Amino acid sequence: MKKAVAYVRMSTDKQDYSIESQKRTIKEYAKKNNYSIIKYFEDKGISGREAEKRPAFMEMIEESKKNYFDYVLIYDSSRFARNLEQSLIYKSILKKNNVNLISITEPILDDDSQLIADALFGAMNEMYSRKLSKVVKRGMTEKALKGEYISCAPYGYFKPKNKPLVIIEKEANIVKEIFKQFLNGKSTYAIAKNLNENNIKTKKGNNIDTRFIKKILTNPTYKGYYKFKTDKKIILNKSNHIPIIDENTFDNVQVLFNNNKKRLNSKNKPLEYNKHWLVGLIKCTYCNNTFVYAKYYNNRQNRFRCGGYTCGKCDSSFSIGIYDIENIVLENIKKTFPNIIYKIKNNNDNNEKKYNILKDIEKYKKALEKAKNAYLLEIDTLEEYSQNKTFFSKKIKELEEQCIKLNDTNIIEEISILNILIGNYDMVLKNKLAKLIINKILIDGKNRKIKIIFNIY
Ligand SMILES: [Zn+2]
Repeated sequence: MKKAVAYVRMSTDKQDYSIESQKRTIKEYAKKNNYSIIKYFEDKGISGREAEKRPAFMEMIEESKKNYFDYVLIYDSSRFARNLEQSLIYKSILKKNNVNLISITEPILDDDSQLIADALFGAMNEMYSRKLSKVVKRGMTEKALKGEYISCAPYGYFKPKNKPLVIIEKEANIVKEIFKQFLNGKSTYAIAKNLNENNIKTKKGNNIDTRFIKKILTNPTYKGYYKFKTDKKIILNKSNHIPIIDENTFDNVQVLFNNNKKRLNSKNKPLEYNKHWLVGLIKCTYCNNTFVYAKYYNNRQNRFRCGGYTCGKCDSSFSIGIYDIENIVLENIKKTFPNIIYKIKNNNDNNEKKYNILKDIEKYKKALEKAKNAYLLEIDTLEEYSQNKTFFSKKIKELEEQCIKLNDTNIIEEISILNILIGNYDMVLKNKLAKLIINKILIDGKNRKIKIIFNIY
């Protein structure tokens, strides 16, 4: 016997079959077709809200998860859902729970129509979840507009469910200390270093870094506000939690913070200038951060140093001069890949030729324009103009063809990668090639050990 439940419902149509007659018909069908009906789900309400909600129907959908029946028998498909969207959604839920829907007065779908129906289920489901996420987002935006805090609690707070943020005294004191130190002129680096020395950790138990300090200094939650980003805009509202920092102090810090940022940015050199071809390749074995390239003035050699150390969360202060690390890396490449070649397009000569041709094309185009004007001003006859036009147009066409040919005959030179890295080539190319051969360079600063890991190919 096949395990089934039956769902019956009165429709608003007065001519409709009664629940009892639906049940009778279903019972007969079940007997004939070898179904055993475990339970009847009946929605008796025929109008008003109850009918709209269909509690028995929802219960049946819910129960379909529990695996005690494999079929739902209904009298006809109008019992099941009011519209296509609903029908597809509930059918797909049943399908997911491995429950088949049998409408006893209607033909069973063949395989092809089932395929189409399946595809539709998928599409509808996706649309449905998209709609749902929109509704959720709208709800969140509304909450945020009311100042309700709906994100994770930042450092210094704890978020009880459905209640405003609660201050964690110990963390709040750290937050106050960070604001105080910054206003006293300490850098974010110095503050992070100081906190690490006192063994203060983030909520997740990580070391404090400058990013953490910056986040704290700029988070308006601490002055009792709530910032929320929607698709279109940023909402900043007063919230219902107790601030840790007074508004005045917070705003002063923002001014200071932005001024510092501007000053630092104006000092920044163009990226090209600051770059070294080993940038991004050197890692610290203690904190796994990338070594950063530090430029020094006063004739000191530029150096690489652990990025974790520079933002205060790693205690390996070791740094290495660029010539030292370059030598080590180049020696290793020489040993491991002595003959590795890179094909480079050398089109310096061509570029000059091309430039001259383009200049000539421009010249002939101007001449053509002049000839046209001469004709329009009745200086030249039509015959003269058409002769000029033919001549200049032919010249332009020839030159354009030459130009295309030049593009095709770029000279390809083969240069050893080693020579490129040593030579006077573009830093971006050098960096690209270095990354092609080298996977990473591990530096153990405390034991002065360097290990180069090459890409195998
Ligand atoms: Zn490190």
